[in-house]
Amino acid sequence: MPDFPATSGSLFMVVAPSGAGKSTLVNALLAQEPTLKLSISYTTRQPRPGEQDGREYFFIAVPEFLEKRQTGEFLESAEVHGNYYGTSRHRIAEQMQSGTDVLLEIDWQGAQQVKKQFPDAIGIFILPPSIQALEDRLKKRGQDEAHVISRRILAAGGEIAHAPESEYVIINQDFATALSELTAIVKAARCRFAQQAARNASLFSQLGIHANLR
Ligand code: 5GP
Repeated sequence: MPDFPATSGSLFMVVAPSGAGKSTLVNALLAQEPTLKLSISYTTRQPRPGEQDGREYFFIAVPEFLEKRQTGEFLESAEVHGNYYGTSRHRIAEQMQSGTDVLLEIDWQGAQQVKKQFPDAIGIFILPPSIQALEDRLKKRGQDEAHVISRRILAAGGEIAHAPESEYVIINQDFATALSELTAIVKAARCRFAQQAARNASLFSQLGIHANLR
């Protein structure tokens, strides 16, 4: 990993089927933890009403996406529900190098690719309390057309089958409980020895703690 040295920053990957309430949970987490930065992905999907270029996603055309993928600009990329999505390698490298905690909202394919490059990346899988709840959420959101919703419901089972690849699982039945669990995972990750030692190098040295940090 030459362009990603060990730092005090943690890398979180939040994975979930559409309709599990992932984005709402992540937005609430980011509001509580301002030092945690969400990586803005590139996508070829059309913006939904209210979405802004550079805020939810960088919306780009397919040829531009394929060119970026070809030139290695993505740390990971995948086709999800008929559109392409990718994470900028350059932005993540910058943030990790400055010790920032970074959160990726990606699908299981992307999470697998990231994990190969960053074995310490922390996977958090968000499950709905039932398939019915997932369907209800997708329909209530009212932002996608009926055929898009059907496609996402069909894909949910495939996505959920990858839950065992994540270190943590949150069942989003009660929002407040799910949010406090998500926050607890972030806080615990920050207290890992390597992260604390990198963040508090002079204290650790004053206290005579010498460890072989990777
Ligand atoms: P949506 O179109 O609803 O915003 O996202 C659809 C799916 O694409 C979600 O599962 C979301 O996590 C995933 N996704 C969003 N950005 C990325 C990305 O950069 N890489 C990958 N692999 N998946 C992404």
